[in-house]
Amino acid sequence: MGKTKKVLVVGGGIAGMTTAWELSKLKVDVLLIDQGPFLGGHAAQLACKATDRCLKCNNCLVEQRLREVSRAPGIDLSLQTRLSSVARQHGRFQVTLHQAPRYIDPDQCTNCGICYEKCLGVAEGAIRHGPSSQNHPFYVIHPEQCLCDSLDQARRCQGACPEGAIDLDRQGAELTLGVDGIVLATGYVPFDPREKAHLNFDAYPNMITALELERRLREQGGVLRPADGPPPQDIAFVQCVGSRDLSLKHNFCSRVCCGYALRLGLKLSHARPETRVAVFYMDLQNFGKDFERFRREVNGRIRLIRSMPGDYFPASQDQIAVRYFDLEQRTVISENFDLVVLSVGIMPRPENQALGQMLGLKLNEHGFYVPEEEDDSPGVVVAGTATGPMDIAESITQAAQAAARMARHLGVWP
Ligand SMILES: Cc1cc2nc3c(=O)[nH]c(=O)nc-3n(C[C@H](O)[C@H](O)[C@H](O)COP(=O)(O)OP(=O)(O)OC[C@H]3O[C@@H](n4cnc5c(N)ncnc54)[C@H](O)[C@@H]3O)c2cc1C
Repeated sequence: MGKTKKVLVVGGGIAGMTTAWELSKLKVDVLLIDQGPFLGGHAAQLACKATDRCLKCNNCLVEQRLREVSRAPGIDLSLQTRLSSVARQHGRFQVTLHQAPRYIDPDQCTNCGICYEKCLGVAEGAIRHGPSSQNHPFYVIHPEQCLCDSLDQARRCQGACPEGAIDLDRQGAELTLGVDGIVLATGYVPFDPREKAHLNFDAYPNMITALELERRLREQGGVLRPADGPPPQDIAFVQCVGSRDLSLKHNFCSRVCCGYALRLGLKLSHARPETRVAVFYMDLQNFGKDFERFRREVNGRIRLIRSMPGDYFPASQDQIAVRYFDLEQRTVISENFDLVVLSVGIMPRPENQALGQMLGLKLNEHGFYVPEEEDDSPGVVVAGTATGPMDIAESITQAAQAAARMARHLGVWP
């Protein structure tokens, strides 16, 4: 029997978890690292969009994968860990990883939550919890936000932990190890609306990104107007924020925003039938199975306005006046909304260039990795939205294909 192969998977979103899971089923040892404190990436932050029936947003697939990955014996997980350097050696890789201090020891922590209860700085972010109950540890500590030192108190979380799992004096670590292959599944960043000055994003508390709406729906089960608290009656979604925008040289479609915005709109109007939802769009992109059926369901429940708003103005009672050109009436209209949701697109990570150079991978004109050709960089494969915009289902399929390519490289393909 040959020696067990070992693969480093960089990125613990749905794509990285899927490649790790598929490789572990082939008896490959996997070290799965993520720079963040929690496994699951963006998909773990999204809300279930079911109304009285499932709208097939697929977010539940992430929970299932989190469960599988956290129990798979062949997968080692290292959070808050980054790849610092890579050197090729006789067909293998010598990798150096930087691990940030683990203030909560995952082997000792039981997720009892006493640290969170005792913490004085939860509002300041001194202790945060993960997006999924599958996250372990479920909590992460940010000692720089801790209030105990400034109040001249002993650190409460450390003293309260019944397992002695917390040590705020722990240091980070550098690890060097040899692996037979590397999977890059570093995902995307959502578009930052501050890059579009005309939105004046920071000036309007009642203007949020769709990712923010997803997080609120996931954590609180509903959404209130951030400015003053009551549920919003009139909600506008603005599509293509950051995508298909030539002024930003982003002439690509993010492929997920039409689907998620219409589903979110349906969910909000189902939860509170008096809610009026309008979606401003250029044209609806029909990606994914069932989209046409689902689009028909939207008719009559969501107002679809084929126009991209030009300006936003403050209106009374913290509303936002949205000004757009109405194609039917051929005139400029100004309409007030309680909440404006920006459907932000999927953008390449800024560090793709540096990581790509380290691993011998090319980027396309938009800054996403070009899916590798057989001989580009042997032993390195890319998975998920690191290669371009796609939804969860496509990320899973594409990541399983990446695992198969890696298995062939390792000679473990059945
Ligand atoms: C607002 C919004 C709503 C959406 N709604 C839906 C929906 O309803 N249904 C759907 O199918 N899709 C939806 N999507 C798309 C969905 O988010 C993606 O398809 C999915 O998250 C892609 O997963 P990924 O693993 O490729 O990337 P990510 O989720 O971005 O995961 C990448 C992971 O890699 C880690 N990482 C990055 N760089 C490094 C590094 N250098 N070292 C270590 N770790 C690193 C990150 O911390 C992250 O955990 C939505 C997207 C947005 C923006």
